[in-house]
Amino acid sequence: MSDILYVASGLLIGLAFKGGLFLFAIPGALIALVLAWLNRPSLPTSKAHTATVPVLRATRTTDATAIGRILRPAVTQTSQTLSARDTFTAFPGDGESSLDKLKGNEIWNKLERDLDPIYRSVLRSIQTLIPKTHSVLLLLKTLDGKSFAIRQFSSTAENEINMNARILDGVGIVGQLASRDVNRILEGDLLNGKSLGYYLTIPAIHSVAGVPMFNNKNQRVGALVIDSLEQNAFNANLIPILDSFASMFHMLTYKSFTSASNYREKKKFYELSAYQQKFFKTTLLKDTYKEIFEYVSQNFSADRIMILVFDNMDQEQGTVAFCRGEDERLFEGRHFSLSDKGILPLAMMQHTATERVFTGRDYVLRLNDAEPRNNSLRYLFVQPSSMTMRNASLNRPSEIAICIERRQALKFEQFEKDLLRFMVNIAYFAYQRGMQFEHEQFEIYHDALTGLLNRRTIDSKLAELNRVHQEKDVGVMMMDIDHFKHINDTYGHQAGDTILKGIAARISSVANKGENLLARYGGEEFFVAIPGATQEILKDTAEAIRVAVNSSPFDIQQGSPIPVTVSIGCYLATRSFQGEMTRAVHYADDALYSAKEGGRNRVVEYQERDFEPEDAQTENA
Ligand code: GH3
Ligand code: MG
Ligand code: MG
Repeated sequence: MSDILYVASGLLIGLAFKGGLFLFAIPGALIALVLAWLNRPSLPTSKAHTATVPVLRATRTTDATAIGRILRPAVTQTSQTLSARDTFTAFPGDGESSLDKLKGNEIWNKLERDLDPIYRSVLRSIQTLIPKTHSVLLLLKTLDGKSFAIRQFSSTAENEINMNARILDGVGIVGQLASRDVNRILEGDLLNGKSLGYYLTIPAIHSVAGVPMFNNKNQRVGALVIDSLEQNAFNANLIPILDSFASMFHMLTYKSFTSASNYREKKKFYELSAYQQKFFKTTLLKDTYKEIFEYVSQNFSADRIMILVFDNMDQEQGTVAFCRGEDERLFEGRHFSLSDKGILPLAMMQHTATERVFTGRDYVLRLNDAEPRNNSLRYLFVQPSSMTMRNASLNRPSEIAICIERRQALKFEQFEKDLLRFMVNIAYFAYQRGMQFEHEQFEIYHDALTGLLNRRTIDSKLAELNRVHQEKDVGVMMMDIDHFKHINDTYGHQAGDTILKGIAARISSVANKGENLLARYGGEEFFVAIPGATQEILKDTAEAIRVAVNSSPFDIQQGSPIPVTVSIGCYLATRSFQGEMTRAVHYADDALYSAKEGGRNRVVEYQERDFEPEDAQTENA
């Protein structure tokens, strides 16, 4: 009989831990277990054992009962996370508040919510199974380890239980269970009836029995207590049953926490692999940054998230490529260098994850002296990408790092740090791909020497400008360097190239704004389009470019500065202009020709008569 019941309880417990049948299977399993125990074949040794059980004295070592041993999970503790949970110090209540900010906290909350009715129904079944029981309570050690608190109970007098009671270590009858050597209490003749510490009123309790609850490191983490209004309500046979239940409670909680932690970890790792797939679809760096941010913000509580990249190895300069949270606008786009004293460049330089807890009294530099100082952040964790062989051999810093800061001095758990390390290394590949892609894109659309748009690109942009032109006027200008052949001949082609670059930079400094398009149109010819221009804007911009080029000579070969000038022709395609943009460019080119004719280093606007009189004159002639 008992064998069958054991099997039944085993099956039910198995079922309970496998899936969602928790609520229903656990009490059933426990009832089967108790019935099995009560029906167990009596062994001669067990009689001898129970016969000599004295009250309030250590009678067994902390090894589990037979059932407890079978049910106790075979896994050993592998991480600090689990061991912290396992002591139950998180119960009851306030200990968990530090986790409140964690996103995974919903899982803990759900676990807490799920556990309560289970505890309760198990306690209720104990109460109904064991005759004469008045109350049965599950006590757990409080965070300070100095007392017990009530986690759950089942009582014939529900209102009499004081949920806020603290049963101090070693004080009173129940308090003995918190002491080192007491492994059971069994009182049957409490004189005149006693009020135990967990009652609000004074019911006359005459019998009380209880056992401590151990975790799988044999530390006392709680107790299971049962009492009765009757005298000698319980006998020593009950103790092993209570032991089994205590063991059960522990296992139930431990298993739940373990599976909750595992679930939480799995969930995060699963999400990480989903992000890995997302990364394969991103090509632009800004999308990569967004994906990184999405993942990090969904899985880690943070008050500031920064993505730092070392995007200019030549100048040993890095950039805060992305920032959300505290002072985001002040940090995003901020540059830093390898010689800066902040913790972030240092971590990237050393390729090591760095963790800091701040007191708030002294500000610790993140990047450098120029940054805004925010003393409300209390915790920082930065994970740079791992060292690549290339970086190692060149003594280069990490290319990318993720920095998470929090207002609470709440450190990441080890698995979260592991997760971030994986994340950054995955992000590193996405970042490299993005860099590569953007570099290639740039080369397709831009001129390699000057960095301006190339001829091919501007030709296709002119088609777009045809559409823009239907809504607003578009100004175009063509410019050509004066006597550039002479410069090349005098100073060499190399010097000529440097001047081309310099002139492109001067044109950019004036005209690179808004929707303007800047291109190197030919060898030493440049093109600028200004959508939404007026006659005045067009003329002023052209004049500003002319002045910028002419303002100071190019000092390429030291000691012999080279003065350079440009001629500029412009044309404003107003909405009354009916032609294609390519024709507008021709007009600008005609005006440029006039500028050259007129003596160079000047701006000429296209005039109808500039073009037509030729025909008119010939006609007149
Ligand atoms: P003008 O004032 O009439 O424009 O005189 P110019 O000497 O500039 O005459 P033109 O525009 O015909 O000369 C073009 C010269 O620009 C010829 C060529 O040597 C030079 N050039 C074109 N492309 C490059 C380049 O990529 N690098 C260098 N260094 N020179 C170039
Ligand atoms: Mg030319
Ligand atoms: Mg020229």
